[in-house]
Amino acid sequence: MTNKYDIVVVGGGTSGLEAAKTAAQNGLRVALFERKTDPAKVQRACAQMFLMNMDSFYNERMYFSKEQQKWIFPVNNFSVNYEGGYREFYACHFMAPNAEDRIEIGNYEANASGQGTAAVVFDKAALLRGLFKECLAADVDFFLERNVTQVNKTPQGVEVKTREGDRLVGTFCIAADGLNSRLARLTGLNRDRTFLFTSGSISYYVTGVAFERSEMICMGNTYDHNGLGPVHFCMLPSVYRDDEYWLYIKGAERFDFFTTKSSFSKWFKKIEVTHKRCAVITAWSPAREPFKDNVVFVGDSCWFAEAENTGALLSGHRAANAVCEALQRGKPDREGVANYLSWWQHNWAQTHDYRDFLCYAVFFNIFSEDELTYIHRIVDQKLFWSINPFNLYRHIMNGIKPHMEQIQSEMPQLAAKLETFSPASAVELMQPVTRAGFPAYR
Ligand SMILES: Cc1cc2nc3c(=O)[nH]c(=O)nc-3n(C[C@H](O)[C@H](O)[C@H](O)COP(=O)(O)OP(=O)(O)OC[C@H]3O[C@@H](n4cnc5c(N)ncnc54)[C@H](O)[C@@H]3O)c2cc1C
Repeated sequence: MTNKYDIVVVGGGTSGLEAAKTAAQNGLRVALFERKTDPAKVQRACAQMFLMNMDSFYNERMYFSKEQQKWIFPVNNFSVNYEGGYREFYACHFMAPNAEDRIEIGNYEANASGQGTAAVVFDKAALLRGLFKECLAADVDFFLERNVTQVNKTPQGVEVKTREGDRLVGTFCIAADGLNSRLARLTGLNRDRTFLFTSGSISYYVTGVAFERSEMICMGNTYDHNGLGPVHFCMLPSVYRDDEYWLYIKGAERFDFFTTKSSFSKWFKKIEVTHKRCAVITAWSPAREPFKDNVVFVGDSCWFAEAENTGALLSGHRAANAVCEALQRGKPDREGVANYLSWWQHNWAQTHDYRDFLCYAVFFNIFSEDELTYIHRIVDQKLFWSINPFNLYRHIMNGIKPHMEQIQSEMPQLAAKLETFSPASAVELMQPVTRAGFPAYR
């Protein structure tokens, strides 16, 4: 059998499976390398939220069709089969260290009563299983338990080699190997990018949590004055069981402090950990463009921190269509996939400032515990409902703005900090901490 394909996809996660499926359904010859034995098995932590159509994300407004059992992407005109469960949630609350005061994104009561829009958590394994099945039906050649270690430009296209000894050639390669992308490093894509930080975290699935308005995502910082310092957390409903929650926190010590000694411990009197997942994030600034020597980059591989499954599906789909078009027009090069590159520029880099993602996370580096509590108390109006991570900071700042006069008179030092803080300073704050050898995102 010849080892020449139209596309060799590296990585069988959300973006790679969507790319392979789309290209094969369009009649291209597609191979896919994946490290795991089963592409549908989820090993890496993921909160599994979908933003839905109350706000746009990459200029798309997705929704779920119950009748068709599909996620629909109306702006980009495609859909993805889905037979898994989902659980609605109704707001995003940023919590003060005292576990009481909060900035409310979204009107919980209105969304829960059906007057507004709910966001959802979905089952990522079911999403991947559906994509995998569609890939098999469309005759994608899978090479599982393969670790891609080399990628080289050749006169025929791109040669891809694995540690296990495979060698395939594709006219194009689609790099879908995730956030810690080896292909971004090997091709030199990362040379134009700024390294920001590396950070690890554990996601605990817990039962027995008791708190009001429990169908929401809540996040914030609390403080251990006897050693750990600020402790950052994020918690939301789990899709697996009605009484289960996903709790993201940096490691066992902080988990113990948060659930047994912090002001939030009142929520966790009877908890049990059902299972855990972890993730390492290596964060770079976004690539200048998602292309290098006939390798087309999709999903997390060329973006900052996380494209999310929405971005992974959109970019996988658009990149595969662009490659089909390039081959049809006899332009197997950068010019051939220019549509994808301009779509990515417009809807990713120019629409979302990746630096906004970092802002809330560094609040505890800038504000004291008292200042944080004050900010979370003074914003008393409900803010625009969204969980787009690249817009949340702006919504919080819009919530603070009407109270600036009061802040200036009651907490002038805090007002000065708020006026000088910007997304650019959030990036600067991330870097020195990393250079000092500490994980940046604590
Ligand atoms: C803590 C956390 C919470 C998150 N929460 C959400 C959320 O709520 N909602 C949401 O939509 N997204 C969320 N995300 C982000 C989301 O999981 C990713 O953006 C998404 O999975 C990216 O898909 P991808 O296909 O680009 O990469 P991945 O899903 O990482 O897939 C990459 C694939 O490539 C394979 N691979 C890597 N290197 C090689 C190699 N050398 N050879 C062969 N195979 C290789 C991997 O095994 C993997 O299967 C979260 C992420 C984290 C870490």
